[in-house]
Amino acid sequence: MMNKMSILHIGFDDTDSSKAMCTTYLAYKIVKFLENEKVEFLDYPYLIRLNPNIPWKTRGNGAIALAIKTPNPKKIKNTIKQLVSKYSDIKGGANPGLVFFQNYKVPNNFVKFSELALWKLISRNYAKKFISENNLETISFGNGQGIVGAIGAIGYKFRDHTFELLSYRKKSHIGQKRKITKDSVRKMQEKTYPITFNSYDKKKDRILITPHGPDPVFYGLRGENAKSVIDASQMIVTAEKLEGYMTFKTNQGTGDHLKHELEADDFKPYTSGTVTGTVLEKPKIEHGGHVVFSINKNGQEIRCAVYRPTKITMIAKELIAGDKIRIGGGVRKASKTHNRILNVETFEILKLEKDFRLVNPLCLNCNKRMKSKGQKQGFQCIKCGEKSANKSILEIPRKIKQQLYIPSVSAHRHLSRPMQRYGKVNKDSKIDSNLRWFHIYKN
Ligand code: ATP
Repeated sequence: MMNKMSILHIGFDDTDSSKAMCTTYLAYKIVKFLENEKVEFLDYPYLIRLNPNIPWKTRGNGAIALAIKTPNPKKIKNTIKQLVSKYSDIKGGANPGLVFFQNYKVPNNFVKFSELALWKLISRNYAKKFISENNLETISFGNGQGIVGAIGAIGYKFRDHTFELLSYRKKSHIGQKRKITKDSVRKMQEKTYPITFNSYDKKKDRILITPHGPDPVFYGLRGENAKSVIDASQMIVTAEKLEGYMTFKTNQGTGDHLKHELEADDFKPYTSGTVTGTVLEKPKIEHGGHVVFSINKNGQEIRCAVYRPTKITMIAKELIAGDKIRIGGGVRKASKTHNRILNVETFEILKLEKDFRLVNPLCLNCNKRMKSKGQKQGFQCIKCGEKSANKSILEIPRKIKQQLYIPSVSAHRHLSRPMQRYGKVNKDSKIDSNLRWFHIYKN
């Protein structure tokens, strides 16, 4: 007799610490087990980046969700529980959360939870309440913060997506320097961009696909579809034999965290979103090259900071009072040394104010600026002696344009939308079981 098939959604997060592991690698281990169980994958594994401005993230605030069809959900759940407790770096400070949801359709309250987790700070209590109200099967370790990401990943609803193929190192190599042929990355980008992106920074001659820490990821290739990143991985030359790779469907590169316009009540620490307002004064350049200024949004003054590595400091310093801008960024908590501030990630100039300045009058005979004769004494041309009582108004051409400015590619976060992706939306795609989206190298 055929067993009845069940649909199982599996979400997990916070299994790693900065010293070891990576939640995506645990996902790879879990998929390896599921492949042997011959389950049907309803979609690619999801790598969902949530609010990038929460304080306790290890790196990129990524959570994982898998959706499968299986005749034996009980066995699957038990093994996954074991894998999560075995591979999490709980001693190193990870607070893993694992959530199962057994139903075809993910209900709207999951979607709402996930939407909030993208731009707000969600308390553990709120997540725990969600678990009990929905009678969810879950396990957590440490303080259980990982539950937030686990629910957020299951509930995530794609409106746009990209892919990332992550390759993993063999255990014996973890911690060693990653040896990769830079030229192969450069050539791969030249050949495949913009179908793959953010692999190599031409200006800095720098590889962007390899992390630098002791985690098991060797490289991550970002692209518009699963095939593009799988093909691209075959062009990358490494000195090291790798264990395998897995392709994730992700909200990276979608700018998803900046969807909400923050109103006065939303302006709380660690919130992400956009703020539209009018520049109040000429920006100041601080020690270290950071640019700070204030904007007015409906009578509320908001302090904003643009950091030097973003390179858009060059643009921000040219703003003047009266410019209307829409800023995308995150609210930084106040400290002893600074007030609550909006960390600027992107900004769009909606309207440029005319830059009028008072200058000494022009002598029409000599086409030269007149000299001041002293306070309230008027002006005189030193060449022909022509006089004038008042200063004149001059319009200074603006050096910046009415457009969107985004950080340099080296300063991109996972969720940052690269310039070539503006206006681009990948409609929901089905998993292609003919593609080798999960692979273990034979060697
Ligand atoms: P990596 O990218 O290497 O997997 P990470 O940056 O994702 O690491 P985690 O160790 O997963 O870092 O820590 C993020 C923690 O924050 C998780 O416990 C997750 O559940 C929680 N979290 C995610 N989004 C929110 C949110 N909006 N509010 C509160 N907590 C959140």
